[in-house]
Amino acid sequence: MSGRVVRIDWTPGGDRLSGTCHCGAKRVGEDPAEMWNWLFAHPAGHDEEER
Ligand SMILES: [Zn+2]
Repeated sequence: MSGRVVRIDWTPGGDRLSGTCHCGAKRVGEDPAEMWNWLFAHPAGHDEEER
């Protein structure tokens, strides 16, 4: 595996983004900037996905 990789994919047929962190955490959102902030803010917020 390539190790620490983060990625953001567009959800087909929608306006939403699906972000995946190198640690496996995932998040769906509509704002790319917010998504990147979330990814780069790690590890903060990792364990708060299910609020
Ligand atoms: Zn992470």
